[in-house]
Amino acid sequence: MNFLEERIVKEGVVKPGNVLKVDGFLNHQMDIGLMEEIGREFKRRFAAKAVTKVLTIEASGIGIACFVAKEFGVPMVFAKKSKSINIDGDMYVAEVESFTHKNKNQVIVSKKFLGPQDHVLIIDDFLANGCALQGLISIAESAGAKVEGLGIVIEKGFQVGGKIIRNLGYDLQSLAIVDSMDAEKGTIQFREQ
Ligand code: 5GP
Repeated sequence: MNFLEERIVKEGVVKPGNVLKVDGFLNHQMDIGLMEEIGREFKRRFAAKAVTKVLTIEASGIGIACFVAKEFGVPMVFAKKSKSINIDGDMYVAEVESFTHKNKNQVIVSKKFLGPQDHVLIIDDFLANGCALQGLISIAESAGAKVEGLGIVIEKGFQVGGKIIRNLGYDLQSLAIVDSMDAEKGTIQFREQ
């Protein structure tokens, strides 16, 4: 087991509805030492890529993406959830369905912060059905930027997102892949990587 899998087994809680709670160290209270280690691990995995921007989605991707951006020495940009229907032409827009809240959000990134010169590394905390990643890919592509890779902290491998993104030909790296989990027994099985 790697450093992250060990932590998930120790502190993760499996909830009904295929939700894994890791809010004690990843996306509510954050263990900063662990965040640094995650940042270094993504840098190691994407070392060959000439990344110019790290792109994520609010809210829970932001903290993690900061540590990744620090390792690459590049800015971090996050897609903001926007309620406004009058979005002007200065924004890239994508529609993203939230796995945890079951609602749809428009997410936006200003055209000031992403363009055809950019090489983007997309980062998020979880991968379930892939809606968040597809929204971020669509924003990067609207900008004419190149998606160099996608880094996920926890992929739920029994949901379709990972397959969809890999089938599109992207370099998707997940630090932990959960192959199955059981809310009643509280057990979690990881994929060998
Ligand atoms: P997707 O768009 O791939 O269906 O879902 C990914 C998004 O939903 C992530 O940004 C993450 O915030 C949230 N998410 C999906 N599954 C889980 C989960 O099991 N636990 C938590 N805490 N968040 C999740």
